[in-house]
Amino acid sequence: MAPALSSPAVGGPLGLLGGTFDPIHNGHLRLAEEACDALGLERVRLIPAGQPPHRGEPGSAADNRLAMVQLAIAGNPHLEIDDGEVRAQRKSYTILTLERLRSELGPDRPLVLILGADAFLGLAQWQRWQELFALTHIAVANRPGYAPHGRRWPGALSPELDEACRDRQVTDPALLRDRSAGLVIPFDMTPLAISASLIRDLVRSGTSPRYLLPDSVLDYIALHHLYENHE
Ligand code: ATP
Repeated sequence: MAPALSSPAVGGPLGLLGGTFDPIHNGHLRLAEEACDALGLERVRLIPAGQPPHRGEPGSAADNRLAMVQLAIAGNPHLEIDDGEVRAQRKSYTILTLERLRSELGPDRPLVLILGADAFLGLAQWQRWQELFALTHIAVANRPGYAPHGRRWPGALSPELDEACRDRQVTDPALLRDRSAGLVIPFDMTPLAISASLIRDLVRSGTSPRYLLPDSVLDYIALHHLYENHE
């Protein structure tokens, strides 16, 4: 008799990119695309925050931010959207999203939380941040203006974050497939000094942000008069 089949295929590493996406721009899109290539991810799931906990009210409503992400990723088979945080009607803590994803995807699928260096440097301020490592790997990209970049931490981490990452840091992306969570991997992306705040500032001052973000998103911003009067 044939041996019983073992557990169903677990699937390759799934990248997770959370953000306010206020609005989504080419820095986010290159981050997702390059993480996919550099880390061998099967796909990247973009997760717009409903109520971001670490900042003021976003300049545009969650439904607008969700719609802009949808427009931006249209036609890219590597990218998908997750509206769970927008629909949750509570503060968007990543730990809660990861718990939800684990219950959806099971304990064995490698998850890779993708962070720009600025977000990573603030990780120790996140809700229940030390529990993140049990649920996901973390991949950290360089971002102009922020350390760390390249393959080494330049000593800019807070002592608690440094301590938490010390024995987790790897450079070989193949290791992300061997376990479902717990590793921290820096990777290099094309440096792009683009931020959502820069785009909001440009729109507010009547200067075009064209080519910093997809045209479809720019058209959406114009159609809905987003950011024109936001402080
Ligand atoms: P804001 O200017 O409003 O603070 P932002 O451009 O930083 O917004 P977020 O939605 O806050 O965008 O960022 C989501 C994630 O994308 C974070 O992990 C952030 O570090 C990363 N990210 C955003 N822009 C870049 C970029 N240009 N290069 C690398 N990472 C980026």
